[in-house]
Order: sequence, then C-alpha cells, then structure tokens
Amino acid sequence: MTARILDGTKIRDQVFADLRSELQRLANEGIRPGLAAVLVGENPASQLYVKSKIAACEDLGLASWMHTPPATITTDELLRLVHQLNTDDAVDGILVQLPLPSQVDTKRILEAVDPAKDVDGFHPVSLGRLVSGRPGLVACTPAGCMEILRRGEIPIEGANAVVLGRSDIVGKPMALLLMHANATVTICHSKTRDLPGVVRRADIVIAAMGKAGYVAADWICPGAAVIDVGTNKVTDAKEAERLLRNFPARLEKFHAKGSVLVGDVHPDAVNTAGALTPVPGGVGPMTITMLMSNTVKAARLRRGTTAAHAMPSTASAR
Ligand code: NAP
Repeated sequence: MTARILDGTKIRDQVFADLRSELQRLANEGIRPGLAAVLVGENPASQLYVKSKIAACEDLGLASWMHTPPATITTDELLRLVHQLNTDDAVDGILVQLPLPSQVDTKRILEAVDPAKDVDGFHPVSLGRLVSGRPGLVACTPAGCMEILRRGEIPIEGANAVVLGRSDIVGKPMALLLMHANATVTICHSKTRDLPGVVRRADIVIAAMGKAGYVAADWICPGAAVIDVGTNKVTDAKEAERLLRNFPARLEKFHAKGSVLVGDVHPDAVNTAGALTPVPGGVGPMTITMLMSNTVKAARLRRGTTAAHAMPSTASAR
C-alpha cells in the first residue's frame, strides 16, 4: 500500500481561496482585517517566521504591522506595547513571536493580549473556550491539522485517534479538537507505556513529539491516517541513512546540502498508512494559513459583521 499524500500546500491554496472570497465580502462592508506582529530582538529563526507571516498577509491583502523592539526590552515596556495594540481598532490580531528574551515574563505578555485579538490561541480564555467547545480562536498548528483531516476527507467521528505529545500549543488543543469532532482520543507522552501498541490501535495518528522518525512504519495500522507535525532537522549522516535508505533522491539531497527535514514518523510509513502528510509540505504550510484564517475570523467576531458565517472554519472548537 502507498499512502495518499495529504498535501498541505494544496490545502493552503484552497483555504486561501476561501479567505479571498471572505475578504472581498468584508471589503464590501468597509473592513480590512489587520495583523500586528511583535518581533523582539534579532533571533534569525523568529525573523524568518515573522517575515513569512507578514508576506502571507500581503499576499491576501490583509493589513499588517511589524513592531521590532530591542532584545533588552523589559516586561513592562512590552506590556505597554501590547496594551497599545489592544486598543488600536485597526488591529484584529496580535502575534507575539516566541521565544521572548529571558528577562521578559512570557506568560504575563501572552495573558495581556486581548482574547478577542488572540490569533495564536495561547490565551487562557481561548483555551477555556476550546475546552468547553465554544467558538473562539484556536492555536494555529492543531487547527491546521483539523483542516487537513476535514479537507482530506478523513472520517473523524467514532475514529480512534492517538495524539503523540501533550504540549500546550499542539498536543493538548489537538486532542480537544478531535474529541469535539467525536473521535475517541488517546493522548500519549514520554511516560506512556507500550507506545507501539497504543499507536497500532489508531485510525488517526497525530505525531507531535519532536523526535525524528521515532514512530516506526510497523506501528501504523495499515490504512490509518497519519498527520506528522514533527519538524526535525537531521544533520547526522548515519541518522539520515537510517531514515531515508528507501528514498535515494532525498538521501542524495541530504548529502549535497548536509541536512534534511524529517517528521516524527519514519518515512517508510508511506507504505503502511492510508493517508499521510509529508514533511516538509504537510502540516508546515498550514500553521501560517490558520494564522491568516484566525485574523479574518477575529475581525469578523470583533466587528460583528454580517459576512460572518460565509466560511466554515475548523479554527473553532466545533
Ligand atoms: P514539545 O513542547 O517539546 O512537546 C513534545 C511532546 O512530546 C511532549 O508532550 C513529550 O512528552 C512528548 N514526547 C517526547 N518524547 C516522547 C516519547 N519518546 N514518547 C512519547 N512522547 C514523547 O513540542 P511541541 O512544541 O508540541 O512540538 C512538537 C513537534 O512539532 C516538534 O518537532 C516541533 O518542531 C513541531 N511543530 C511543528 C509545527 C509546524 O508548523 N509544522 C508547529 C509547532 C510544532 P512529555 O510531556 O512527557 O515531556
């Protein structure tokens, strides 16, 4: 069996097409949703992420602002910036790029963001809404995984879903979204006993552990759907060989470049799974996509527009 590939880039394009229609309807009502990004200091990875997010805003025609305070900023100074963005009516979404410098109290900053503008879905109010199944803004990566499952026509209701990882930003919200979609959910973590046995019972596997190729191909029940959130940069030649021995073209690229991106699921799972997200090109493109979707949704909810119900979005709890 060769798995059907759940192509995140194609699904991103579908979501973007829906968003463009909705943005047109909002524009007819005089509304242009806007995202304010806060990038503290000069971390190159963070700079790259924020740049991609601003580029996506520009692509869709959303307003965007980038605030770049220095790495020496204090918690109080950053709180003042967040409050300023909270009260700016043109701003629908506030994104504070993590990690923040160690002298800044990250929790206080994230909790200072107005929940109505919490497009990352990290605020306790957003998490509370998710737990109780009320509409709200949901963390982008798990919301993106749901979008892949739904648009990939993977049956969720009644399915046994296994979530590997219990982080606040991926594993926990993912498990809640699946539960609200009527899956029977098992959450695994580093203390879970007999992980292969648990995974073998899954119709849907969501891997979000941060361990390159940890989930072996023979753990996957034949025909199961696999959503691989893991994004691991492999630089060790032996490790690359272990993971990519059946993918000579990718191995060749590794030798030329010195590194390769691999998910948490062993690439050989393409021969056991029924459907699978590739790494890269699966969940990755969906995270920024859902940030855009959340910004449009926040504009809709906050500004009480009549264009509200045009696009069904999985970025809500149900
Ligand atoms: P994290 O905060 O480090 O959490 C990892 C989770 O995996 C923890 O709950 C941990 O269990 C569990 N885990 C680790 N080793 C395990 C093992 N041997 N068996 C079972 N469970 C194990 O990571 P994260 O932020 O959720 O991210 C997870 C992965 O997703 C990373 O590779 C990250 O790069 C990727 N990611 C990708 C995107 C994207 O856009 N594609 C977005 C976000 C994250 P404990 O709780 O017991 O420690």
